[in-house]
This record gives sequence, C-alpha cells and structure tokens, in this order.
Amino acid sequence: MPQNARPTLTIENQGFVRQPVDILSLIGHTPLLRLGRLGREVPGVEIYAKAEWENPGGSVKDRPALNIVLEAECSGSLTRGKTLIDSTSGNTGIAYAMIGAARGFRVTLCMPANVSVERKRIVSAYGAEIIYTDPLEGSDGAIRRVRELVRAHPERYFYANQYDNPANWRAHYETTGPEIFEQTGGRVTHFVAGLGTSGTFMGTSRRLKELNAAIRCISFQPDSAFHGLEGLKYMPAAIKPGIYDPALADDNLEISTEEAYAMTRRLAREEGLLVGVSAGAAMVAALRVAREIGRGVVVTVFSDSGDKYLSERFWDEK
Ligand code: PMP
Repeated sequence: MPQNARPTLTIENQGFVRQPVDILSLIGHTPLLRLGRLGREVPGVEIYAKAEWENPGGSVKDRPALNIVLEAECSGSLTRGKTLIDSTSGNTGIAYAMIGAARGFRVTLCMPANVSVERKRIVSAYGAEIIYTDPLEGSDGAIRRVRELVRAHPERYFYANQYDNPANWRAHYETTGPEIFEQTGGRVTHFVAGLGTSGTFMGTSRRLKELNAAIRCISFQPDSAFHGLEGLKYMPAAIKPGIYDPALADDNLEISTEEAYAMTRRLAREEGLLVGVSAGAAMVAALRVAREIGRGVVVTVFSDSGDKYLSERFWDEK
C-alpha cells in the first residue's frame, strides 16, 4: 500500500452486513476490550474488559433483566396485564423499562430519590413509573418499599426481585461466562467483578469454573457503607442478596471511591474509554490482581459508560 493511502471503511470490509433485528436480540455478545495502555504497568499480564455499555439499554443489566422477564413469561408469573415491579439503583430499571416497552408490559420502579437525574429521565423516557424512597435508606429502603407494595397488591404485580431471583445469575452463566471463555480462546486465568446484586460475579464465575476449574474468580466491593460506587454494595452493611454466595470467590477486594474516581478519569484520558465509576473500580481491582500474579490473562467487566455520571464533580479533578 502506498505510504499515505488510508484504508477506506466499507460495509464489505467490516466482514458482515447487519440484517434488521429486534432491539432485544442486541443484548449480549459485547466486545472484549484489551486494556493495552493502563495494563502495560504489568507486562506479563493481559487485561481485558467486557464493554457492557454496548448493550441496547446501555449496561450489563440488560442481560439479567431480559432473562428474568423471559423466565417469568415461561413460568406464567408475568402474565398479560401484570406490572413488573422491582427496586433498582438505575441500570436494572433502565433495562426493565426498555424491555417492558419492547414487549408491551408496564414497569414500576422503586429507587432512592438521590439517584442521578440522567437515570431517572431515561427510565421515564421509556414510559416506566418511578416511586422514590428515602435516600438515607439507600437501595435497602427501595427493596423494603417494593416488598410492602407487593404484599398489599399481589394480584397487580410481578415482583422481579433481582436480588433473590436465580434468573439474574443464570443470565451471566448462559451468556457472559461462555462469551469470555470464547473471546479469550479459553486463555482466561482470572475473572474480576464487582458486587451489586452479585449476579454478574456469581453466574460468570460458576460458568468459568465449570469450563476450567483452575480459573480464579475475584470479587470486589466498596470499602465502606458510604461510598460513591453506584451499582455496588458494601456487603457487611447491606441486606445480603439471596443469590450471593461469598464462598464462590477465591478472593474479595475492597476498593475506595477515590481510587475508583481517579481510575475512571485515567480510563477516559489514557484509553479513550468514557466509562462509569464501577468500571473504574473494576480496573483498580484488575490491576491489583495483575500485580499480584505477574503472569496471566485477567478479564473484568465494565458495566456501563460514563455518560450517566457526567454531572459528577470528580471529572474536574486533576
Ligand atoms: N456496576 C454497575 C454500574 C451496576 O449498575 C451494577 C448493577 N447493580 C453492577 C456494577 C453490579 O452488578 P451485579 O448486580 O450483577 O452484581
């Protein structure tokens, strides 16, 4: 090729032509990104992240939300005319709202009133109803409110219950786990994921360990109950999710909000990845594992993109 010729991007040289599809069929099969620049700190380790904002609802939570809905439709618990209700810090709510709109059922979400304006507006744009709960009670306050409503009107609601519903972790067992194994050509040695409902960690780890029992699975969580890592839980102080089994983790790391903020800025500035704060925390955790092992293939999950967090002040710090 002459020196100054540049390749032209055509549909043909992308290697495929996309046929028209249903919005829900775009869930999953996200790209696996190589973190080449930040990862060079530990040359013996390859670090990768699943680009979960590529899901049509913008986060990893599309996977469990879809599986919860499909399993409930199959079992007959989400029948015509029923409203799906759940508590959510935002991303699961966005996923339910999108899926409800696409499949034609109503969605009601309980969330702490201090959830970011962007998240509230997205959920409302999809036509879901929001019930606000006391910010001081956090996500546990929202859980309690849903339980009260379902107890009062059992005939009206299907309680999706992402914290206790095995369809949550099974979504990752069926999709995220096999995708990671396949995209690394079976070379993955360590899997690192944060704990919210714990669905991502539980389902993906179970599948990876079945595929290769030598794969180490490391969970992480915030280092205190009062943290800025939206989507994650400090387990010692939280209502323990029914699907969470701490025994599955080979190790469990604690990440501070400040470290996560600083890494989220670095991912934007040094990798060109505008990701959310829990992705920053995931990168801190992945690098900590990488330094410890010295050699290996570490895979983590970047749960959402940075655009829902742009009003936060940490972006302006040096
Ligand atoms: N990061 C973000 C941004 C999230 O919204 C969530 C979901 N609460 C998580 C991480 C944790 O995922 P999981 O619920 O599967 O533990």
